[in-house]
Amino acid sequence: MTDQPELSVIVPFYNEEESIRGMHASIVAAVEPLGIPFEIVMVNDGSRDRTLEIATEIASQEPRAVVVNFRRNYGQTPAMAAGIEQAHGRILVTMDGDLQNDPRDIGEFLAKIDEGYDIVVGWRFNRQDKLISRKIPSMIANWLIGKVTGVPIKDNGCSLKAYRASVIKAIPLYSEMHRFIPAMASIAGPRIAEIKVRHHARQFGQSKYGLSRVYKVLLDLMVIKTVASFTSRPLLWFSVLATPLALIGLLALAFSMWHWAAVTGTLPLPVAGTGLIFLLAALILMLSGVLGELVFKLGDVREQGFSRLTMKVWGNDAATLGEVDRHA
Ligand code: UDP
Ligand code: MG
Repeated sequence: MTDQPELSVIVPFYNEEESIRGMHASIVAAVEPLGIPFEIVMVNDGSRDRTLEIATEIASQEPRAVVVNFRRNYGQTPAMAAGIEQAHGRILVTMDGDLQNDPRDIGEFLAKIDEGYDIVVGWRFNRQDKLISRKIPSMIANWLIGKVTGVPIKDNGCSLKAYRASVIKAIPLYSEMHRFIPAMASIAGPRIAEIKVRHHARQFGQSKYGLSRVYKVLLDLMVIKTVASFTSRPLLWFSVLATPLALIGLLALAFSMWHWAAVTGTLPLPVAGTGLIFLLAALILMLSGVLGELVFKLGDVREQGFSRLTMKVWGNDAATLGEVDRHA
């Protein structure tokens, strides 16, 4: 590609054969009037229906459309990450491929980026999904994510977001992490804006998720907290984790002693043994933290490419975005 597009619209598709043509058409209809060079990056996430066939057909007739293909289903976040990696635009917009997000909102996202924001996130204020299985868990998750990460965003799960390419390309994405991009990026101090977006009920096919995503989101939240707050202080984090174990261990031992001295004159072995096991567990956790410190310091000394970049993004003395840009 010789001309760098101003905008890349990145859309993951997993078994969306009924939606993909409509998606492409509505993106073109919404973006063409904006009068900027753009590309559409369609990521086929190992679909087992005709999604790939249709995507390839679209791309053969439309030079602005690019297909990225996964041979098997890896999930929405890896699909997004692959699209982001392949995209050439200066501004990247991600959205769902099931026609639930509306490309007519893209113009407003670009306007916000022009105002100087680095990340613009959508808020599905009038979300068209099921109440019990979707909206309520999502409300709780958004509240929790805000509390834990300190980045209060109303709708982390909304895929419709816009980024400066240099910002998003520096953020490692895996698991279900696309929900946490603003929180992850926030460590490097970008300007984040939130705007209301349209949302439509799913017309074709089915949602690819059930309640099972809840535990994945919780685990990812823990990973983010660890990475964001403790990358350069692993011993501290492991000590925090070890504290409850050490407390239980000490309590059990104290109880055993008291029982021995004041009650029966014999040591209650099961309780004392349990206490010892808990204390040992706490010790092993702390030692893992020591190991973490060694790995961190070693990485620091060797200054290997990736770890240097991640430390720049994650470290406590987080680099400004400008610095990260040069290494990306
Ligand atoms: N998706 C994907 N890989 C997956 C699951 C989903 O690429 O393993 C895509 C899916 O095709 C859609 C978007 O991610 O374009 C959002 O998925 P879905 O509509 O099922 O999620 P929901 O809107 O129910 O949260
Ligand atoms: Mg959907």
